[in-house]
Amino acid sequence: MKIAIAAGLLCIAAAPIIATLPSAGEPTSSPVPKVSGGGLGQYAQPAGEVEGFAAYVPQASCDPKWRKGIRAFRDLVMKTYPETEDWGSRRDCTDDGVSEHLDGRAWDWHADVKDPKAFAAATDLINWLMAEGPDGEDAYWARRLGIMYIGYNHRIWGSYRASEGWRRLNNSNPHTDHVHFSFSWAGAFGKTSFWDGTPAAEDYGPCRVYQGEPAPLHTRTDPTRRPCGSPPPLTRTSTKSGPLLWRGSESAEVLAVQKTLGVGAPNSYFGPKTMRAVADYQRRKSLPVTGAVDTLTRAALVSDGVLKG
Ligand SMILES: [Zn+2]
Repeated sequence: MKIAIAAGLLCIAAAPIIATLPSAGEPTSSPVPKVSGGGLGQYAQPAGEVEGFAAYVPQASCDPKWRKGIRAFRDLVMKTYPETEDWGSRRDCTDDGVSEHLDGRAWDWHADVKDPKAFAAATDLINWLMAEGPDGEDAYWARRLGIMYIGYNHRIWGSYRASEGWRRLNNSNPHTDHVHFSFSWAGAFGKTSFWDGTPAAEDYGPCRVYQGEPAPLHTRTDPTRRPCGSPPPLTRTSTKSGPLLWRGSESAEVLAVQKTLGVGAPNSYFGPKTMRAVADYQRRKSLPVTGAVDTLTRAALVSDGVLKG
């Protein structure tokens, strides 16, 4: 899928979109004309109580994959607006920036503002997401899907700053050719009221165990988690540090790790199988399960003779 990769790089390379989000812009108008949106409501499970506005929980782990809620949302959007295009979800960890494309909580929907049909589709969906609920709830469907923020056509809407409405998107990528959606963890796991009729509790996701290292993988939604507190301690090891090896890395060191950990068809490229093998190794060694050869994991691999210290 060449186009998905190209589009993805455009989104992230130009835009550590999330890093600029919480402080971005002054209140402004909607990125699309205000009309009532048809949307995806026919597919929702009925619900009484619904979610509040999702908190801002930035990406901290790197685990790019199609998560259930993102894939299901994508499928409904593509079925409803077949004239538009899926621009994908995943990135490699080696791509720069902080982005939910790296932890499996984002999706890019190709809807160019200069293409009347695609713009009409984006208008329809966005107006539906922002529409009031039966009891006057703002952004009813965005809340029920666990949407954390939307970037489109020079504008950004964040659930964590919903009272400010659409703000100017201060980003080198104006998002005029696609709509970017980032989801809460519950939304990404498909556990919100849209899908099962039960409002999801906030899931604040994984917190870094050591400063500057990726956070542990988040494999299932966990409403008992609290927001990550003060910065964690720095990692201390007796071995010298080396490059972080994770999804997208390609090197002789990756090959050595693959051979030792029994990854089939070792090829020096750190893909999903290598990530799973590293995670299993971390579990055996009681290390934070980040799926990356981080500082502590490198030290363990050096001590096991897999990598040179
Ligand atoms: Zn994006």
